[in-house]
Amino acid sequence: MLETDTLHRFMLEEAGVRGEWVHLDAAWQALLERHEYPPVVRDLLGQAYAAVALTAATLKFDGSLILQVTGTGPVHMIVAQADGQGRLRGLARFRETPPEGATLAQCAGDNARLMLTLDPGDGGERYQGVVELEGETLADAMNVYFERSEQLPTRLWLTASGESAAGMLLQAVPGEGGHAVTRDSEEWNRVTILAETTSASELLQLDAGTLLGRLFAEERVRLFDGTQVRFHCSCSRERVGETLRRLGREEIRSILAEQGAVDVTCEFCNAHYHFDPVDAEAVCAPEGTQPPTPDTRQ
Ligand SMILES: [Zn+2]
Repeated sequence: MLETDTLHRFMLEEAGVRGEWVHLDAAWQALLERHEYPPVVRDLLGQAYAAVALTAATLKFDGSLILQVTGTGPVHMIVAQADGQGRLRGLARFRETPPEGATLAQCAGDNARLMLTLDPGDGGERYQGVVELEGETLADAMNVYFERSEQLPTRLWLTASGESAAGMLLQAVPGEGGHAVTRDSEEWNRVTILAETTSASELLQLDAGTLLGRLFAEERVRLFDGTQVRFHCSCSRERVGETLRRLGREEIRSILAEQGAVDVTCEFCNAHYHFDPVDAEAVCAPEGTQPPTPDTRQ
């Protein structure tokens, strides 16, 4: 039976290649319930959603990974975020509905870039990698990104529909004792050529065991227990307050003068945060002089 909202790690033991398989269902629906997207934009965002879930799972960390595609085309921003606990969120911004069948490259338009940001989440320094968007699909662009910026050979396969988003990742295992699988090695070629035969419908319809058995029939595949992934937005009244504080007292007062209150809606989850003049002043006050306001998130 197909496991929904699950990420599986696996190992192609003879090849020295590890992998991940992900299937996003309720986690994907939770995002789609909050925003309406034309199918082309929806599917691109779904691919980014699967890509960030897969890539975050290759990292050992407590922070979060943010994948962003920006450009000057009809879809000028796609962003997806995952943390170390399998929590995901994402959104896309578009100026116009791209034509049916438009690729990521066509949607993002000129000057398109792919950016990955690793936020350690403990106030530590963010790491950011940026490449020009190359290839037609997000998987192509991710493959280029990994070629340019990572030591470890990595490949992704991504797909999405109105029901689910799914994907697979292969990555060479870091070499120990001098032996490492490289981009030119026979093992890497063998398994990526096999993986290349996977189709979007197989990614969407087959469970991890069946898909891996089909793709890697001759390989020794070790499939690990799945972990759950879900939609979760990390916004909070406190974080919105921090953002407002950074705007500065003058800016806040000018918003208050104009609108009588400060209202902020989270673009990821549509949660609404209302700061009346007293709340807004409290946000600006030096730390410790005002008690924190209770969380009134709806
Ligand atoms: Zn939110």
